Amino acid sequence: MRVYISVDIEGVCTVVNGTSTSASGRDYDRARRQMTAEANAAVKGALAAGATEIVINDSHGSMTNLIPHELHEAAELIQGSPKPLMMMEGIDAGFDAAFFVGYHARMQQAGILSHTISGGTVSNIYLNGKPVGETAINAAIAGYYRTPVILVTGDDRVCQEAKDTLGSVETVAVKQAITRYSARSLHPAKACQLIEASAQRALQNLDSYQLYLPQGPYTFTLQFIQSGQADAASMMPGTVRVDASTVSFSHDDYIEAFRGLRCMISLARP
Ligand SMILES: [Zn+2]
Repeated sequence: MRVYISVDIEGVCTVVNGTSTSASGRDYDRARRQMTAEANAAVKGALAAGATEIVINDSHGSMTNLIPHELHEAAELIQGSPKPLMMMEGIDAGFDAAFFVGYHARMQQAGILSHTISGGTVSNIYLNGKPVGETAINAAIAGYYRTPVILVTGDDRVCQEAKDTLGSVETVAVKQAITRYSARSLHPAKACQLIEASAQRALQNLDSYQLYLPQGPYTFTLQFIQSGQADAASMMPGTVRVDASTVSFSHDDYIEAFRGLRCMISLARP
Protein backbone atom coordinates (compact mmCIF):
# COMPACT_ATOMS: atom_id res chain seq x y z
CA MET A 1 0.00 0.00 0.00
CA ARG A 2 1.39 3.37 -1.08
CA VAL A 3 0.63 6.52 0.91
CA TYR A 4 1.27 10.14 -0.08
CA ILE A 5 1.48 12.92 2.55
CA SER A 6 1.41 16.67 1.80
CA VAL A 7 2.50 18.70 4.84
CA ASP A 8 1.88 22.42 5.36
CA ILE A 9 2.75 24.41 8.51
CA GLU A 10 -0.12 26.85 9.25
CA GLY A 11 -2.31 24.04 10.54
CA VAL A 12 0.31 22.50 12.81
CA CYS A 13 -0.46 22.35 16.53
CA THR A 14 0.23 25.65 18.42
CA VAL A 15 1.05 27.65 15.25
CA VAL A 16 -1.00 30.87 15.42
CA ASN A 17 0.88 33.58 13.51
CA GLY A 18 3.72 34.47 11.16
CA THR A 19 6.45 34.08 13.78
CA SER A 20 6.03 30.31 13.30
CA THR A 21 5.73 30.19 9.54
CA SER A 22 8.59 32.26 8.13
CA ALA A 23 12.18 31.04 8.36
CA SER A 24 13.24 34.25 10.11
CA GLY A 25 10.45 33.98 12.69
CA ARG A 26 11.08 33.64 16.41
CA ASP A 27 8.99 30.44 16.70
CA TYR A 28 9.90 28.86 13.36
CA ASP A 29 12.29 26.23 14.75
CA ARG A 30 9.69 25.00 17.20
CA ALA A 31 7.00 24.98 14.50
CA ARG A 32 9.06 23.02 11.98
CA ARG A 33 9.91 20.47 14.68
CA GLN A 34 6.21 20.00 15.41
CA MET A 35 5.50 19.91 11.66
CA THR A 36 8.04 17.06 11.41
CA ALA A 37 6.52 15.31 14.46
CA GLU A 38 3.01 15.48 12.97
CA ALA A 39 4.29 14.11 9.65
CA ASN A 40 5.93 11.28 11.60
CA ALA A 41 2.68 10.58 13.43
CA ALA A 42 0.92 10.17 10.08
CA VAL A 43 3.74 7.85 8.91
CA LYS A 44 3.42 5.68 12.04
CA GLY A 45 -0.34 5.40 11.57
CA ALA A 46 0.13 4.48 7.92
CA LEU A 47 2.71 1.82 8.79
CA ALA A 48 0.41 0.34 11.43
CA ALA A 49 -2.26 -0.02 8.73
CA GLY A 50 0.14 -1.81 6.38
CA ALA A 51 1.68 0.95 4.24
CA THR A 52 4.73 -0.26 2.34
CA GLU A 53 5.78 2.98 0.64
CA ILE A 54 5.32 6.49 2.02
CA VAL A 55 6.27 9.74 0.27
CA ILE A 56 6.12 13.07 2.11
CA ASN A 57 5.96 16.36 0.22
CA ASP A 58 7.11 19.48 2.09
CA SER A 59 4.39 21.94 1.08
CA HIS A 60 5.03 25.29 2.77
CA GLY A 61 6.84 28.40 1.52
CA SER A 62 10.32 27.48 0.35
CA MET A 63 9.24 23.84 0.81
CA THR A 64 12.34 23.11 2.89
CA ASN A 65 10.77 23.08 6.35
CA LEU A 66 10.67 19.44 7.44
CA ILE A 67 13.83 18.30 9.25
CA PRO A 68 15.11 15.32 7.24
CA HIS A 69 17.14 13.59 9.97
CA GLU A 70 14.21 13.78 12.39
CA LEU A 71 11.81 12.24 9.87
CA HIS A 72 10.69 8.60 10.22
CA GLU A 73 13.07 6.43 8.21
CA ALA A 74 10.21 4.63 6.45
CA ALA A 75 9.34 7.80 4.51
CA GLU A 76 10.97 9.44 1.52
CA LEU A 77 10.94 13.23 1.36
CA ILE A 78 10.31 15.70 -1.46
CA GLN A 79 11.63 19.22 -0.76
CA GLY A 80 12.44 22.40 -2.65
CA SER A 81 10.72 24.77 -5.04
CA PRO A 82 9.49 25.23 -7.70
CA LYS A 83 7.84 21.84 -8.25
CA PRO A 84 5.42 21.25 -11.14
CA LEU A 85 2.60 20.03 -8.90
CA MET A 86 3.61 22.26 -5.98
CA MET A 87 1.95 21.00 -2.77
CA MET A 88 1.11 17.76 -4.60
CA GLU A 89 4.44 17.04 -6.28
CA GLY A 90 5.01 13.31 -6.63
CA ILE A 91 1.31 12.30 -6.49
CA ASP A 92 1.41 11.37 -10.19
CA ALA A 93 3.48 8.30 -9.34
CA GLY A 94 0.27 6.56 -8.23
CA PHE A 95 -0.82 6.14 -4.60
CA ASP A 96 -3.59 4.31 -2.77
CA ALA A 97 -4.36 7.23 -0.43
CA ALA A 98 -3.30 10.78 0.40
CA PHE A 99 -3.13 12.68 3.71
CA PHE A 100 -3.05 16.49 4.13
CA VAL A 101 -1.27 17.38 7.40
CA GLY A 102 -1.02 20.91 8.87
CA TYR A 103 -3.47 22.42 6.36
CA HIS A 104 -5.41 25.70 6.79
CA ALA A 105 -8.72 27.25 5.72
CA ARG A 106 -9.08 29.21 2.50
CA MET A 107 -8.73 32.99 2.17
CA GLN A 108 -11.76 35.06 3.27
CA GLN A 109 -12.73 32.39 5.81
CA ALA A 110 -12.17 32.27 9.55
CA GLY A 111 -9.27 30.08 10.62
CA ILE A 112 -5.63 30.33 11.63
CA LEU A 113 -3.63 32.13 8.91
CA SER A 114 -6.36 31.44 6.35
CA HIS A 115 -5.16 32.01 2.78
CA THR A 116 -5.14 30.39 -0.65
CA ILE A 117 -1.71 29.71 -2.18
CA SER A 118 -0.48 33.32 -1.90
CA GLY A 119 -1.77 35.44 0.97
CA GLY A 120 -0.50 38.68 -0.56
CA THR A 121 -2.06 38.02 -3.97
CA VAL A 122 -5.21 35.91 -3.91
CA SER A 123 -8.49 37.12 -2.48
CA ASN A 124 -10.66 34.28 -3.79
CA ILE A 125 -10.29 31.38 -6.18
CA TYR A 126 -13.36 29.79 -7.80
CA LEU A 127 -13.33 26.48 -9.62
CA ASN A 128 -16.29 26.31 -11.99
CA GLY A 129 -17.96 29.03 -9.93
CA LYS A 130 -17.44 27.40 -6.53
CA PRO A 131 -15.01 28.94 -4.00
CA VAL A 132 -12.05 26.63 -3.37
CA GLY A 133 -9.09 26.60 -1.00
CA GLU A 134 -5.90 24.59 -1.03
CA THR A 135 -7.73 21.52 0.28
CA ALA A 136 -10.06 21.39 -2.74
CA ILE A 137 -7.47 22.45 -5.33
CA ASN A 138 -4.99 19.83 -4.13
CA ALA A 139 -7.57 17.08 -3.54
CA ALA A 140 -8.62 17.48 -7.18
CA ILE A 141 -5.00 16.93 -8.25
CA ALA A 142 -5.02 13.73 -6.18
CA GLY A 143 -8.37 12.78 -7.73
CA TYR A 144 -6.97 13.34 -11.21
CA TYR A 145 -4.34 10.71 -10.39
CA ARG A 146 -6.99 8.36 -8.92
CA THR A 147 -5.97 8.90 -5.29
CA PRO A 148 -8.54 9.73 -2.56
CA VAL A 149 -7.67 12.21 0.20
CA ILE A 150 -8.70 10.36 3.36
CA LEU A 151 -7.18 12.43 6.19
CA VAL A 152 -6.94 16.20 6.74
CA THR A 153 -5.42 17.77 9.86
CA GLY A 154 -5.22 21.41 10.98
CA ASP A 155 -7.51 23.75 12.90
CA ASP A 156 -11.24 23.14 13.34
CA ARG A 157 -11.98 25.43 10.37
CA VAL A 158 -9.99 23.51 7.77
CA CYS A 159 -11.46 20.27 9.13
CA GLN A 160 -14.95 21.64 8.42
CA GLU A 161 -13.82 22.89 4.99
CA ALA A 162 -12.46 19.40 4.20
CA LYS A 163 -15.74 17.74 5.20
CA ASP A 164 -17.77 20.27 3.19
CA THR A 165 -15.54 19.68 0.16
CA LEU A 166 -14.71 15.99 0.27
CA GLY A 167 -17.71 14.59 2.12
CA SER A 168 -16.30 11.46 3.70
CA VAL A 169 -12.86 12.24 5.17
CA GLU A 170 -11.10 11.61 8.48
CA THR A 171 -10.08 14.86 10.20
CA VAL A 172 -8.02 15.84 13.23
CA ALA A 173 -8.52 19.34 14.69
CA VAL A 174 -5.25 19.96 16.56
CA LYS A 175 -6.48 23.45 17.57
CA GLN A 176 -9.66 25.50 17.72
CA ALA A 177 -9.31 28.87 15.98
CA ILE A 178 -10.39 31.82 18.13
CA THR A 179 -9.36 34.53 15.65
CA ARG A 180 -7.13 34.40 12.56
CA TYR A 181 -4.12 34.75 14.89
CA SER A 182 -5.19 32.95 18.07
CA ALA A 183 -6.19 29.41 18.92
CA ARG A 184 -6.77 26.98 21.72
CA SER A 185 -4.39 24.07 20.95
CA LEU A 186 -4.10 20.51 22.14
CA HIS A 187 -0.81 19.55 23.72
CA PRO A 188 1.60 18.91 20.80
CA ALA A 189 2.13 15.28 21.90
CA LYS A 190 -1.62 14.70 22.11
CA ALA A 191 -2.05 16.12 18.59
CA CYS A 192 0.47 13.57 17.31
CA GLN A 193 -1.32 10.70 19.09
CA LEU A 194 -4.60 11.67 17.44
CA ILE A 195 -3.02 12.04 13.99
CA GLU A 196 -1.39 8.62 14.27
CA ALA A 197 -4.65 6.94 15.32
CA SER A 198 -6.67 8.72 12.63
CA ALA A 199 -4.18 7.90 9.88
CA GLN A 200 -4.34 4.22 10.81
CA ARG A 201 -8.15 4.22 11.04
CA ALA A 202 -8.57 6.03 7.71
CA LEU A 203 -6.34 3.57 5.85
CA GLN A 204 -8.10 0.61 7.46
CA ASN A 205 -11.37 1.99 6.05
CA LEU A 206 -9.95 2.94 2.66
CA ASP A 207 -12.99 1.60 0.81
CA SER A 208 -15.28 4.17 2.43
CA TYR A 209 -13.69 7.22 0.75
CA GLN A 210 -14.33 8.60 -2.72
CA LEU A 211 -12.13 10.29 -5.28
CA TYR A 212 -12.59 14.06 -5.51
CA LEU A 213 -12.52 15.57 -8.99
CA PRO A 214 -15.22 17.97 -10.20
CA GLN A 215 -16.58 17.51 -13.72
CA GLY A 216 -14.62 19.27 -16.50
CA PRO A 217 -14.03 21.53 -18.38
CA TYR A 218 -12.30 23.50 -15.66
CA THR A 219 -12.45 27.26 -15.19
CA PHE A 220 -10.34 28.85 -12.47
CA THR A 221 -11.54 32.37 -11.69
CA LEU A 222 -9.07 34.38 -9.66
CA GLN A 223 -10.10 37.42 -7.70
CA PHE A 224 -6.93 39.32 -6.82
CA ILE A 225 -6.43 41.61 -3.84
CA GLN A 226 -5.92 44.61 -6.12
CA SER A 227 -6.43 45.42 -9.80
CA GLY A 228 -2.71 45.76 -10.65
CA GLN A 229 -2.31 42.07 -9.92
CA ALA A 230 -5.14 41.29 -12.35
CA ASP A 231 -3.41 43.54 -14.93
CA ALA A 232 -0.28 41.38 -14.61
CA ALA A 233 -2.12 38.01 -14.60
CA SER A 234 -4.12 38.89 -17.71
CA MET A 235 -0.84 39.06 -19.70
CA MET A 236 -0.98 35.26 -19.78
CA PRO A 237 -2.31 33.98 -23.13
CA GLY A 238 -5.76 32.41 -22.92
CA THR A 239 -6.97 34.39 -19.92
CA VAL A 240 -10.26 36.29 -19.77
CA ARG A 241 -10.49 39.57 -17.85
CA VAL A 242 -13.69 39.26 -15.84
CA ASP A 243 -13.54 42.62 -14.04
CA ALA A 244 -10.95 45.04 -12.64
CA SER A 245 -9.56 42.58 -10.09
CA THR A 246 -10.67 39.23 -11.58
CA VAL A 247 -9.15 37.02 -14.30
CA SER A 248 -10.17 33.53 -15.42
CA PHE A 249 -8.55 30.67 -17.29
CA SER A 250 -10.20 27.51 -18.64
CA HIS A 251 -8.98 24.13 -19.86
CA ASP A 252 -10.51 20.71 -20.46
CA ASP A 253 -7.68 19.07 -18.49
CA TYR A 254 -7.50 19.77 -14.75
CA ILE A 255 -3.70 19.75 -14.53
CA GLU A 256 -3.42 22.22 -17.42
CA ALA A 257 -6.01 24.43 -15.72
CA PHE A 258 -3.98 24.19 -12.49
CA ARG A 259 -0.83 25.20 -14.37
CA GLY A 260 -2.69 28.23 -15.68
CA LEU A 261 -3.76 29.09 -12.14
CA ARG A 262 -0.17 28.95 -10.94
CA CYS A 263 1.09 31.08 -13.82
CA MET A 264 -1.51 33.77 -13.14
CA ILE A 265 -0.52 33.87 -9.47
CA SER A 266 3.20 33.96 -10.35
CA LEU A 267 2.71 36.89 -12.72
CA ALA A 268 0.65 38.79 -10.15
CA ARG A 269 2.80 38.11 -7.08
CA PRO A 270 4.08 41.32 -5.48
ZN1 LIG B 1 1.79 27.10 4.19
